[in-house]
Amino acid sequence: MSLEKCATIDDSMTLNIPKKGFEVVQQVPAKTIGRDQNALYLTPRKIRKDEFNSTTLNDFIDKMYTVMIKNSGVGIAANQLGKRLQIFIIEAKDDNPRYNVLGQVEKQLFINPIITKVSTEKKNFWHGCLSAKDEKRGNVATYEWIEYQCQNQKGEVKKGRLDGFAAVIFQHEFKHLMNGTYMDVAKQFLSKTELDKKIASGELPFFEKASDTLPLLINGYTIGKTLHDYHSK
Ligand SMILES: [Zn+2]
Repeated sequence: MSLEKCATIDDSMTLNIPKKGFEVVQQVPAKTIGRDQNALYLTPRKIRKDEFNSTTLNDFIDKMYTVMIKNSGVGIAANQLGKRLQIFIIEAKDDNPRYNVLGQVEKQLFINPIITKVSTEKKNFWHGCLSAKDEKRGNVATYEWIEYQCQNQKGEVKKGRLDGFAAVIFQHEFKHLMNGTYMDVAKQFLSKTELDKKIASGELPFFEKASDTLPLLINGYTIGKTLHDYHSK
């Protein structure tokens, strides 16, 4: 490697926390200038063996969580903070103002995640995103339940199964690590006000069996494959 190359190590691939703190990266519509330099659309790397069980990783994750809570999010992926790393957190409290929460979801961290098994049934959900500020909610399908494998902060392998709202949030964050947001997938959009009105009146399905025509949020991902495999396609 040349000296010049060394001097230009891409900060988005590191666990360094910017001095001014993290800002939530905003989505860029397809075929728009700047999208190819935005971390939401660039391949995130795996967390390496030597990075686990370190203050650097723990501080990074604490900071991610702080940003999520400050913005009333129910999940956050590292690339939403400009970092191309395979890390996300989910958590939903029943007083979350951004969602009519479908039950509480305990705080969970996923590093280097893989989806190992999914349900046949899919459900619809109108997604919003901290990276789609002031944008409309979008209706997409997600698997009713998923099984995953990932690592914890110590690097230990963790396996589990999620259903309900936890499965929705997990797939939403997983989609970020596949690159992009629900904005790239959804065909139906509504403002939160319009949506709340239509859900309250029973006019719209909310977290019901998804029709076969409803776009799948994590479409293109092969179950059991790593994100590295997905991005190497
Ligand atoms: Zn999001």
